[in-house]
Amino acid sequence: MQKLVQQRLKKLEAMPKLIGPVSVKVSDVPTGTWRYRRPVIRHGDCVKCGICAEYCPCGVIEKTEGKMVIDYTYCKGCGICTTECPKKAIDFVLESECNKEGD
Ligand code: SF4
Ligand code: SF4
Repeated sequence: MQKLVQQRLKKLEAMPKLIGPVSVKVSDVPTGTWRYRRPVIRHGDCVKCGICAEYCPCGVIEKTEGKMVIDYTYCKGCGICTTECPKKAIDFVLESECNKEGD
């Protein structure tokens, strides 16, 4: 996560200075226990296109060791990745169901 934050901040520094509010595509605030649902990637259906990572407003999806990985410490459970995945390879699972299975 920290590596990702550094990469994004470097990109921001290189951008022309803007006037007005600017959103930063990185979250460094741990999510806590309030998240209601979490995205779970079905790796057998994922084609590793990276679109989910591009759309995630928190910047918490990365390709690591050849597969897409979500950092649940920072994922806010907004569901955008599940909507944008062209292969519909991301399930949006109730947190209560994840806890039952020990995820
Ligand atoms: S958008 Fe879907 S298919 Fe593409 S990398 Fe993400 S999970 Fe995999
Ligand atoms: S649910 Fe939202 S915050 Fe979590 S990985 Fe998907 S797009 Fe990012």
